[in-house]
Amino acid sequence: MQLDLDQRHALVCGASRGIGRAVANELARLGATVTVLARSREVLEQVVAELATPNPATRHGLCVADMRDTAALARAVRECVAGRRVEILVHNSGGPPAGRASEAQPEDFAAAFAQHVISGQVLLQHVLAGMREAGYGRLVNIISTSVKEPIANLGVSNTVRAAVAAWAKTLSGELAGDGITVNNVLPGFTETDRLSSLIAERARAQSRSETEIAQAMRAQVPAGRFGKPDEIAAVATFLCTPAAAYVNGVSIAVDGGRTRSLS
Ligand code: NAD
Repeated sequence: MQLDLDQRHALVCGASRGIGRAVANELARLGATVTVLARSREVLEQVVAELATPNPATRHGLCVADMRDTAALARAVRECVAGRRVEILVHNSGGPPAGRASEAQPEDFAAAFAQHVISGQVLLQHVLAGMREAGYGRLVNIISTSVKEPIANLGVSNTVRAAVAAWAKTLSGELAGDGITVNNVLPGFTETDRLSSLIAERARAQSRSETEIAQAMRAQVPAGRFGKPDEIAAVATFLCTPAAAYVNGVSIAVDGGRTRSLS
């Protein structure tokens, strides 16, 4: 199986912690040069310092940007990866706040659409020519199982995740002839800050303890436990390798079997 990413440059968004950071680590282990993107330079410097360098000549980099501000994102990426081709784009960010769709403000949808959909288009426009030139491109979106089954009390998130999935599926057909694949990873309940904040939010809303909420969530998972960021990252990273060249336009749930839908 060809998993070597030596000579490939990956831009990994939302890489300061959680799933994005785990993907950056795995890509670096497979030999990729990685540019990590998030809002805090200080944290990104720590992430870069910990990335593997199987080839000692590899120079990982960082890009400070807020994905909600898509104009600033475009400027930042132009500067950070100037003159360097990006063949692997991991499009990932923080999840929108919890709440019912019926109670969300129009601006909440607009902000989430910018952060999750427009950001992807901005980044794609920046990297696409290089992917075509290389005849090798991998776009992996980290979305959510809500693409298959909407999750209660994540109304804005459910809505924009579906938009990301539709964008990705459309792109996968348009770009396949250029050696570019576009796929989505749908994490289940994964032990990150995002999960902790969702558990805390549910506990508050239902006047129950966080332990009770976490137990009830684990009970929904046939595997009987939450996932680890590395387990989500393993699948996302595989999709970035040469071995995954014929996997295109799919959404893979990595959720311990929680999603019940057939497709
Ligand atoms: P996380 O909150 O632990 O990490 C999110 C990362 O994105 C961090 O590096 C954060 O700094 C960065 N980020 C957040 N907002 C940003 C912004 N405006 N601009 C730039 N960077 C920003 O989240 P996670 O658990 O690693 O989740 C990653 C994605 O997967 C999210 O979209 C999340 O909603 C989704 N997801 C997570 C779970 C879970 O259980 N953890 C389940 C389903 C889906």
